[in-house]
Amino acid sequence: MPLPRPDKFSDKSPDMTHPSTPATVVIYSGGMDSFTVLHRALREGLEVHALSFDYGQRHSRELEVATRVCRRLGVPHQMVDIRAIHGLIDNSALTDASREMPVGDYGRENLADTVVPNRNMILLALAIAKAVNIGAGRVDYGAHGGDHVLYPDCRPEFVEAMNAVSGIANFAPVEIHAPYLRASKAEILADGLAIGLDYADTWTCYRGEALACGRCGSCRERLAAFAANDVTDPLGYLPQPDPAVSQRPDDDATPSRRSPDV
Ligand SMILES: [Zn+2]
Repeated sequence: MPLPRPDKFSDKSPDMTHPSTPATVVIYSGGMDSFTVLHRALREGLEVHALSFDYGQRHSRELEVATRVCRRLGVPHQMVDIRAIHGLIDNSALTDASREMPVGDYGRENLADTVVPNRNMILLALAIAKAVNIGAGRVDYGAHGGDHVLYPDCRPEFVEAMNAVSGIANFAPVEIHAPYLRASKAEILADGLAIGLDYADTWTCYRGEALACGRCGSCRERLAAFAANDVTDPLGYLPQPDPAVSQRPDDDATPSRRSPDV
């Protein structure tokens, strides 16, 4: 009996063990950093697979933005629902809607509340699994320098250790590519602006309302990055309270006014 002709299988997935174009799995939240990383990977000419996670965030604005951007770019986008593990990681203001969302600049005292237990190790492990599954040699991850103080799983030592593990955990090594590991948010934004990215296609605010709040740590860091680049943020923001009011002495005494490095 003759062997089947190769084109008989043309409707099947290609042999992803050896993809013709190097492929990467981009962990894409819909925020500024992963948006920039996604575009960098595309510009490298890689076959990009975007991966987003629904882990029970308080709102889905970022994920909606991620879906829209991938659809427009024609990038395959997989949204993974990991809410089944919500009960393991709900001790955070980001995943527990009954908790007050802290406001103010990033600082240990207030925004430690926004740490989701072991989040990035979980997400990286799943992204590495997908990479192995499709024969991709890389996972792109948007950790950046400004996260170091508060988030241990964005620090270089964590990413380097995970990268070492990723090299030995499977038959095929997967590299964790974190191009902004030592860059500030402002530097990432400068990089994206230089290649013409439109940051109206991103969502940063920890609150999921129609307009960004401008007050949460994530908004404040974003706004500072735009200010550092002397560019106006294209996102809409809620009207801000009178700056004179927000600078009252008793506000200055709150931990939220401390800089992240104290
Ligand atoms: Zn906000």
